[in-house]
Amino acid sequence: MKDDNCIFCKIANGEIPSKTIFEDEKFRVILDLGPATKGHALILPKDHYANIYELPEKTAADVFVLAKRMAADMTDKLGCDGFNVVQNNGEAAGQTVFHFHMHLIPRYDNDGQKIGWKPSEPSQEELEEIRAQIAD
Ligand code: 5GP
Ligand code: ZN
Repeated sequence: MKDDNCIFCKIANGEIPSKTIFEDEKFRVILDLGPATKGHALILPKDHYANIYELPEKTAADVFVLAKRMAADMTDKLGCDGFNVVQNNGEAAGQTVFHFHMHLIPRYDNDGQKIGWKPSEPSQEELEEIRAQIAD
């Protein structure tokens, strides 16, 4: 399943060239054009799924196994000091390309990047309300 208007479909399937660091039947892993750090890469499924909600469970499982393998290999080869795996869904969450992708971001001591959030301070009551909304 490809989407003719999707740039990541074209990259994943080799119609648009990319700096590919791994490829198999189901995935292509490419260097990000606007890297947060040296080696920042993206795992792209070759089939089109807009986001995590559309992703089949089997593909979700495979993508995380690949992320784990890439993290080990990239850490070995780049000598990075840490590693972020990041995945955005929806504009509100910072997604800008609407073909599922997983960011692989090697981290280096003092690399000057900040991937995170500002912690809030909910009360126990607020946490309980949220817990019940999700779990019950
Ligand atoms: P998102 O914000 O959707 O999670 O991430 C999209 C990522 O794709 C960004 O990090 C951006 O730099 C990268 N990107 C956007 N267009 C291209 C492209 O044409 N080629 C490559 N290699 N990366 C791209
Ligand atoms: Zn696509």
